[in-house]
Amino acid sequence: MSVEAQFNLLIDPTWNDINQVPPKFPMMTNEAYVMAVREDLQGIMNNPVGKSVLDRLKKWNRVVRITPVREGQGVCVSPSANFGENRDLMWNRHVSPFLNKVLGMQTRPIWAVVFYTPEAFNPGGTCHTFYKTDKRSNYMPNRQEVLVHELVHAIRDMSKTFSPDSVKVHKTNLQGFDSIEEFIAILVQNMFQSVDKGKLRADHQGFRELDPNLANSFEFFKISTRSFAAVEAFVKQNKYFTANLAKLDVPFNPVRAFFKDPRKCREFSESDAAFKRDTGPLAVLFRTLTPGISVELWHDLLHP
Ligand SMILES: [Zn+2]
Repeated sequence: MSVEAQFNLLIDPTWNDINQVPPKFPMMTNEAYVMAVREDLQGIMNNPVGKSVLDRLKKWNRVVRITPVREGQGVCVSPSANFGENRDLMWNRHVSPFLNKVLGMQTRPIWAVVFYTPEAFNPGGTCHTFYKTDKRSNYMPNRQEVLVHELVHAIRDMSKTFSPDSVKVHKTNLQGFDSIEEFIAILVQNMFQSVDKGKLRADHQGFRELDPNLANSFEFFKISTRSFAAVEAFVKQNKYFTANLAKLDVPFNPVRAFFKDPRKCREFSESDAAFKRDTGPLAVLFRTLTPGISVELWHDLLHP
């Protein structure tokens, strides 16, 4: 059985071609697309963090469709994930039930779609070329980390826990993540990367390396005063997924740290180091003089 079938994934190279005759982006043949995504999935499966992601997706008994990004001929369009397109809804509502009921087939509904083009991250590809000169970036992402990141978004879509603002990240050092969703996806991406000593990603602004002082399962909580709340939300919202992640003895695993010693994680998150990252060094002095003033208020005062 192919790796995609094993985990209820559907590699779909043709979907976009249907809308575009002749195909607008003949970057890869359909066969080459399937082979490349399959190769990435094999690598993800052989990584314990990646395996946890795939296992979680499988548990839903629903399908995740992986298909090329559709816009931006010749430019780098970021991969993305969402709940599905109109065609997926049509399949779920009408086609799949029909096949199952009338023809006795056992088709599954499609609950998330990942837009991902492996070739874009190969040397010479659009995203590879873009990140080589992007001022915010200082390393080149590998294909597997890009795909695993999107599959984490797919888990959040499938589990209906996707909520871009369940924990506020703005006005803190987490604002570089743009949203709690990106924080979670990058957290798991970094756990994945740590297995083979790959680069850990700082935030959602390009591909910049994480501050080495934070590249430790516990020390990571010093990234912001919101880090504890962010990981706690992830653990509460995705109980089984995070319980599995916590079992993995990989070099960078803040989820494991959270399960092991939540008090220490909270202390690190409330430390002066975290406060300083959120609001600047001056605020740390003010904080000691006036305890109980919120991070947002200090941030407003210092960065109006
Ligand atoms: Zn993302």
